[in-house]
Amino acid sequence: MKQAIIIRYCEIHLKGKNRGYFEKMLKENIKRSLKGIDFKFTAMHNRYLIEDFNEDDYEIIVDKLKKIAGIHTISIALVVESNFESIFEAVKNLIQDKTGTFKVITNRADKTFSPNSMEFSMMLGGKILEHFNKNLKVDVKNPDFAINVDIREEGKTFVYTDVIHCLSGMPVGSAGKGLLLISGGIDSPVAGYMTAKRGMKLDCLHFHSFPYTGEAAKEKVIELTKKVGEYNGGINLFVVSFTHIQEAIHKHCPEEFMITIMRRFMMRIAERLAKQQGDQAIITGESLGQVASQTIESITSSNSVVTMPVLRPLIAFDKIDIIEISKKIDTYETSILPYEDCCTVFLPKYPAIKPNLDRVIKAESKLDIESLIEEAFRKVEKYVF
Ligand code: ATP
Ligand code: MG
Repeated sequence: MKQAIIIRYCEIHLKGKNRGYFEKMLKENIKRSLKGIDFKFTAMHNRYLIEDFNEDDYEIIVDKLKKIAGIHTISIALVVESNFESIFEAVKNLIQDKTGTFKVITNRADKTFSPNSMEFSMMLGGKILEHFNKNLKVDVKNPDFAINVDIREEGKTFVYTDVIHCLSGMPVGSAGKGLLLISGGIDSPVAGYMTAKRGMKLDCLHFHSFPYTGEAAKEKVIELTKKVGEYNGGINLFVVSFTHIQEAIHKHCPEEFMITIMRRFMMRIAERLAKQQGDQAIITGESLGQVASQTIESITSSNSVVTMPVLRPLIAFDKIDIIEISKKIDTYETSILPYEDCCTVFLPKYPAIKPNLDRVIKAESKLDIESLIEEAFRKVEKYVF
């Protein structure tokens, strides 16, 4: 029996006059994600349809659809001719292993089809009860599962039972572009995923401190970036060496401000790269109070060197909730691999937890900030995934 995948989208409904823009973007994102796979794509009212695909590709298609922001739910339907016998055959196929209570929901787009929806549901329900005898009962108010019969205009009918929840959110690209500061930790990949899910297309920036941090630490970040990229329709990763900057801070500035000043450099470089790439915001995985560098005073200090919006989607999240999302998006196991991060190099014993901005600026004035940044920029590596 032929299969089709019904795709339903969500908040896009609410977008009034912009609806066409969001729909077009979602359609393009779906097609891009399924590139290289043969299928027929149809836009219907409030949903899309994927048909005529090779059965072997079915799992890959569903897997990819589950990672596309803007898709609310999907259903796998059997497609049959619009007549009672064929529809009943499809139902038998779908529910043979099911037990409990059910109801039939018929939707008749083809108004020439007789009988009407209500009568058809009753007829089909009756036949199901007769066929499955003791295992199934009707419950129209609170059934264990619904049997949906969608009678289309072209003489064909979709029959399905399950509704699979997908990502929801907004199509990637519909909310501009941003630059994610990605470390090898748990938080930043989650922050990236959440921002992409709200429609922002991401680039990524990682600072490494070779030779203090090794090749394996970089590989870990590449792995994490690729995972985030699955929700972003592909992704660019920029890797900047932070070694000289860290050495200079270590040499010339008070130890207590090491992290504070490092973070100010990160933000400056991020803003410069973001502007160059057309990114409109910087995204970090910071969460209030999680570590010394994430107090409001520390955030004030790092924020004050940039004018671009800095988005911190995890700011009010508990670690336990962040971990739950990282498991869901399959970044957790990679994030906890024990490689060093550039922030763990030159880690001071007693970092300033509430750095005073005036003192930080004074401490930093010993450095030639501009030429350190220039130098870091000259050796940016770019990866495209
Ligand atoms: P994460 O789990 O994302 O590493 P964290 O809890 O370790 O976060 P910090 O080390 O204070 O927290 O980093 C805060 C944020 O700064 C990170 O979420 C990330 O956005 C950014 N960041 C930290 N280290 C790097 C790095 N080496 N390269 C790029 N961005 C970084
Ligand atoms: Mg970290």
